[in-house]
Amino acid sequence: HAKALGGSRIEHFALHQRHELGRRMALESHLRRALERGELYLQYQPKIDLRRGTLAGFEALLRWQHPEYGIVSPDEFIPIAEETGLIVPIGEWIVGTAIRQMAAWREEGLPEVPVAVNLSARQFLQGDVVATIEHLLQGAGLGADALELELTESVSMADPERSLAIMHQLKKLGVTLSIDDFGTGYSSFSYLKRLPIDKLKIDKSFIHDMVHSADSRAIVGAIVAMAHRLNLRVVAEGVELAAQAGALRDSGCDQAQGFLYARPLDAFDAGLYLAVRPERNHLLRPSAM
Ligand code: C2E
Ligand code: MG
Ligand code: MG
Ligand code: MG
Repeated sequence: HAKALGGSRIEHFALHQRHELGRRMALESHLRRALERGELYLQYQPKIDLRRGTLAGFEALLRWQHPEYGIVSPDEFIPIAEETGLIVPIGEWIVGTAIRQMAAWREEGLPEVPVAVNLSARQFLQGDVVATIEHLLQGAGLGADALELELTESVSMADPERSLAIMHQLKKLGVTLSIDDFGTGYSSFSYLKRLPIDKLKIDKSFIHDMVHSADSRAIVGAIVAMAHRLNLRVVAEGVELAAQAGALRDSGCDQAQGFLYARPLDAFDAGLYLAVRPERNHLLRPSAM
């Protein structure tokens, strides 16, 4: 090839872009049929009560198993679902599936723990989330305290007035509200104080850095202290090491979630996890599953 390096680089870049765009368009059209084809399912990741070492609940995480692409990461397809509006029917399916799963576990006589569901901005602001959730809970015969909703700061930023109103309606219903990925956005504590929320989930980037950064440990400690003063519970996400769990416990953090305790589990395995109901201190037997 006689082409200058610069030229081939540009060509390479253009090819790469076209490839990305091609994949994105393909994913979009496949995502339109993923639901009806049964390619979507939920996994459930345990959340642990840090003081007692017991199971505090699960977070439901969406998975897409495509016949050709394999497992597509939610970080890749949730934004596509958001942009296309597909998140509305998919989101309804997610909430319904999590609620029906809780009802099924109760039927089996398993202990009842709350399940948290992630809601993205569009799903939150479009459609009638409150009526949908109320209807789904009623249909399953579950109280609203069974359900927790995780919202990112971007949700309330998109349309502050409307989201505040919706949050108040959800609170009135009795659902637990938490702010996800806390620390990565721009919201101040004084802004958060105006929101009717119950919990903060500290983003995993801070938890990751705790091990080697005294600053990160100080930030996490300050978040926990401030949150408690505002009557908010605190959850740490992405806990992978016993040292992190120890530091979090020292800081007074309420709950922890991460690979140290368990990976996200298929519904069947989550049921087994519930059945053995880990009452003993998880730190003595990390990665039980
Ligand atoms: P998120 O809500 O902050 O979920 C936590 C993510 O951290 C999950 O990634 C989980 O698998 C991962 N994780 C858990 N423990 C550890 C750990 O110890 N170390 C590390 N490095 N990671 C850990 P996942 O499942 O890939 O989901 C990524 C994001 O996609 C979620 O972040 C959430 O924003 C979004 N998402 C997932 N499921 C749903 C859903 O049902 N609806 C909506 N709207 N968004 C979802
Ligand atoms: Mg979450
Ligand atoms: Mg998070
Ligand atoms: Mg996240």
